[in-house]
Amino acid sequence: MIERRLNEGAYRSVDTLYEDVKWMVHNSVIFNGGTSAITKDLRYLLKNLRMELYDLDSCACCYIHAYTRPELWFILPCPSPHLLVWAQLKGANE
Ligand SMILES: [Zn+2]
Repeated sequence: MIERRLNEGAYRSVDTLYEDVKWMVHNSVIFNGGTSAITKDLRYLLKNLRMELYDLDSCACCYIHAYTRPELWFILPCPSPHLLVWAQLKGANE
């Protein structure tokens, strides 16, 4: 469903995608049960999507750089200047 909607250009905002995944979780709870493997996988997807959207919402340019230029993303300039936030990612080398 998501792939079809992506190909159709139905997602005008990331919020619409997020709402679709929330509906999938809702429907899976009803049809498969709250503890089924499918529901657990969908909840995992929803949690990760929420984190990705949070990162994307912070700065879309930084988000794109993080995936396209992972070795340099934090030093590449963004069109709209913004504050730098330094944080150590979980699992990163110290
Ligand atoms: Zn940025």
